Amino acid sequence: MDNRPGSPENPVRVAVIGSGPSGFYAAEALQKQTDFAVEIDMFDRLPTPHGLVRGGVAPDHPKIKSVTRIYDKIAAHENFRFYGNVEFGTNLTHADFLNYYHQIVYAVGAQTDKSLEIPGEELPGSHAATEFVAWYNGHPDYRHFEFDLTQETAIVVGVGNVAMDVARILARSYDELFQTDIADYALDALKNSNVKTIYVLGRRGPAQAKFTNKEIREFGEMEESNVIVEPDEVEIDPISQEYLDTEADRNEITNVQILKEFSQREPDPSKPKKVIFQFLVSPVEIEGKDRVESVKVVKNELYKNERGSVRPRSIDRVYDIPAGLIFRSVGYQGVALPEVPFRDDWGTIPNEKGRIHVWLDGNKGAVVPGEYVVGWIKRGPSGVIGTNKPDSVETVEMMLEDLRNNITLKPENTTREAFENLLHERNIHYVTYADWQRLDELEIASGEALGRPRVKFTTVEDMLNALKQGTPAK
Ligand code: NAP
Repeated sequence: MDNRPGSPENPVRVAVIGSGPSGFYAAEALQKQTDFAVEIDMFDRLPTPHGLVRGGVAPDHPKIKSVTRIYDKIAAHENFRFYGNVEFGTNLTHADFLNYYHQIVYAVGAQTDKSLEIPGEELPGSHAATEFVAWYNGHPDYRHFEFDLTQETAIVVGVGNVAMDVARILARSYDELFQTDIADYALDALKNSNVKTIYVLGRRGPAQAKFTNKEIREFGEMEESNVIVEPDEVEIDPISQEYLDTEADRNEITNVQILKEFSQREPDPSKPKKVIFQFLVSPVEIEGKDRVESVKVVKNELYKNERGSVRPRSIDRVYDIPAGLIFRSVGYQGVALPEVPFRDDWGTIPNEKGRIHVWLDGNKGAVVPGEYVVGWIKRGPSGVIGTNKPDSVETVEMMLEDLRNNITLKPENTTREAFENLLHERNIHYVTYADWQRLDELEIASGEALGRPRVKFTTVEDMLNALKQGTPAK
C-alpha cells in the first residue's frame, strides 16, 4: 500500500520554525496549493508571533505592522497550529522534529548583528542598533538593556533602514513617541533623554545609501529635530555620477535628490535636536577611558573594484567626533541552529532555492532531504517584509516537488495528537494562536486606557500570567 503522506487521512506534517513574515508566507503557500493535504505547525521561542513585525519594525511605522492581519488569516486556517514559547534546540531537539514531521522549514531570521571590528567596540556606550531596536520594541530578551541617554551626542554607523529607525527614534519628541506602541519603559527613558545631536555616518556616498525614500524623507518632517546635510556632503564625485547615470535605481536617484534638498535648508532654531548626515566616512576607533567619549573616523573616497562595484577606501584625513553613544547599524547576522548545517561566512543555512545542503569545509555537500529554509536565514538580512513572499514561495515549490518524488523525512509519529502528547509529557507549556490573540486584545485594551495604540507585555512571565488571569499589560 502506498503510505505517502498528502492524503486527508495522512496529511503531510510540516514544522515551521519561526513565526516571522517568511514563516507565514511559507505557510500561506502551502495552504494555497491543492495537490497535498498538509498540516502546518508553526513554532516560536517567544509566546508572541510575527518576528520582526513585532520586534523590529519601528513603533512609529504602524502601517507596516498591519500586515499581521494577513498572518491572522493564515493562522485561522483549520490546518494551522501555533506553538509559542517552544524553543528549537532546547524544549524540542532536531531529533524530536525528525520524529514527528515529514518536512521542516527553518524561518528563524538573523538573530544577531555584525560588528565593526574596530578597537573600543566593547566600551560602555557602544551598542548594536539591533539591541536598541529590540529594546524599544519590548522584546523580552532585551528589556533589561540600558542605554545611557544622559549623553548629548549619539552616532549611528550605517545608512540602511535600521540606522534610519534608530536615528529617528532618538530624534522623536515625547508626543510623537507617545502615539506609538513603543515599550513603556523605553517611552519613559526617551522622555528624559538628553540626546540632542545624532550623527548618521555612511561609509560610501549619498548615491550608495541603502535607506529608502520614505525613510530619509521623514527626517525633514520631525517635530523637534532638524536635518543637517552640509552642501559638500552631497557633491557628487565622478564615480557616483557615472553610477547615477548608468546603474542606479529610482530609489537611489531620489535619495540623492532628497539629500540635496535637505542641504539647502535653513535649520529651524525652535527645534532642539538635529540629525547630521555625513558620507564617505568610516569609524576606525571608539575612544574613551571607561566609556565611549569620542569616535575616530577616517574620510573615504570611492573606487571601482575589479568586479565593477563602487567601494570605499580611506584617504589620509582623520578626525574625532565627540559622542557618548555609538550604535553600529551595519547589518543583522544569522546564528546557527543546533544540528542544522550553517555557513559561517555568510551567516546563512546553505541552500539551493530553499533546499538545505550539507556544508563541509567551505563546500556544498549533499541535499538534506525534508529540511528547508526561508527568509533572512536563507538569503541573508536583506529586503523588506514583502520580499519574503516570493522567497518563501520558491522554497515551497521545492517542498512540493520533493513530495511528488516521495522525498521526505521519515517520522515515526505522524499525527498531531501524538505530537501534542509529547509536549504534555515534556511539560512544555505552549501558547496557541488564540492565546496570542487574547494577549493582543489585552495589550490594545491597556493602550486604550492611556490613549495609546497598545501597551506591550515585555516579559514572558507577564504574558503567561496574563493568560492565566486575564490581566492587562502593565
Ligand atoms: P542594510 O540595508 O544592508 O544597511 C547596512 C548599512 O551598513 C549599509 O549602509 C552598509 O554600507 C553599512 N555597512 C556595512 N558594513 C559596514 C562597515 N563595516 N562600516 C560602515 N558601514 C557599514 O541593513 P539594515 O539597515 O540592517 O536593514 C536590513 C534590511 O531590513 C534591509 O533590507 C532594510 O531595507 C530592511 N528594513 C526595512 C525597513 C523599512 O522598510 N522601513 C526598516 C528596517 C529595515 P554599504 O552599502 O557600503 O555596505
